[in-house]
Amino acid sequence: MNNRVWIFDTTLRDGEQSPGCSMNVPEKLRMAAKLVELGVDILEAGFPIASEGDFQAVDAVSREFPWVQVAALARSMKLDVERAARSLEKAKRPRIHTFLATSDIHLKYKLKKSRQEVLDAAVSAVELARTYVDDVEFSAEDGARTDPDYLEQVSKAVVAAGARTVNIPDTVGYSTPDEYGELIGRICKALGDTAVVSVHCHDDLGLAVANSLAAVKAGARQIECTVNGIGERAGNCSLEEIVMVMKTRHDRYPYTTGIHTEYLFPASQLLSSIISFGPQPNKAIVGKNAFAHEAGIHQDGFLKEPTTYEIINPKSVGVPESRLVLGKHSGRHALKNRCEDLGYHLSPAELDLVYQQVTELADNKKGLMDEEIAAMARRSQEQAAPQPVGD
Ligand code: MN
Repeated sequence: MNNRVWIFDTTLRDGEQSPGCSMNVPEKLRMAAKLVELGVDILEAGFPIASEGDFQAVDAVSREFPWVQVAALARSMKLDVERAARSLEKAKRPRIHTFLATSDIHLKYKLKKSRQEVLDAAVSAVELARTYVDDVEFSAEDGARTDPDYLEQVSKAVVAAGARTVNIPDTVGYSTPDEYGELIGRICKALGDTAVVSVHCHDDLGLAVANSLAAVKAGARQIECTVNGIGERAGNCSLEEIVMVMKTRHDRYPYTTGIHTEYLFPASQLLSSIISFGPQPNKAIVGKNAFAHEAGIHQDGFLKEPTTYEIINPKSVGVPESRLVLGKHSGRHALKNRCEDLGYHLSPAELDLVYQQVTELADNKKGLMDEEIAAMARRSQEQAAPQPVGD
């Protein structure tokens, strides 16, 4: 079986439609350039019927990056599909991504439609989309909570109508790895090699990455994800996390992507500077503390051999260097190194003096700035310097 997994980035669509994440067209273009550099396979640039800005964003990304596979979202409705098709006119490899909810709860309360009506609408939308483009993806919204028999029926019908990718989203982040893997395995078996099975997981229970991995093991070959895991509510599967799991634990997950991982951190930084928030400090891979060490035992081990406490070389994800945070948990070894980095080669007596001050000061602080450490090192050398002796 082919082990190449397609990375479908939806930072500019699902990510962008969440609170605090709106992006205008120039901002989406800047982010798109980073995503292209990162090597995403499919770039979902917007939901053209939703707003003029979304239409323009898809159009602008299609013009600016004509060789990239650009996707536009559309409900399974004539006007949506036509609008998506128009926004993609300049793309060389356009994809129309049409969706319709298939779970009973959505059918009953949101759509007020029968299963047959939904099936017919999905098939019509895919057929219409195929009159504009060759590459059509169908998403069965709330797929994880859909009756598997019906989901299989819809999946087969949209593929017969011309869809090349069938996405089974866990729209509300409710599924678990074993349950989701089972469902995806069943759909993969039903479709065989007639279509790529895709996954789109939300993180409401913190399982988006785990669920996506379970799906890949079960045969899915496209993962929909976002930089920094932004997206509706608790967000989507985090691009940097899923990619680094498959790279770092290739022994357990022998799959490859086209992502140039050294651009992960720069992409995360750019996104943070465009939207209104960055990842939390302890966020895996791209958080401020992801490669920071404060505890003395950890710092000592790290300085002797980085792999004692680091499973990923920070440079491989574009983080400039590991950060040893000097605080109350630090030891002499890390302090001596930092002072040397700052240009102070301290004698054992001088180091003792600085170490004493650091532990006293750091007790009341959350970590020390380089300038504070430099000042202490300077003072220690002044104090320890031999005093002029009078006669
Ligand atoms: Mn979503």
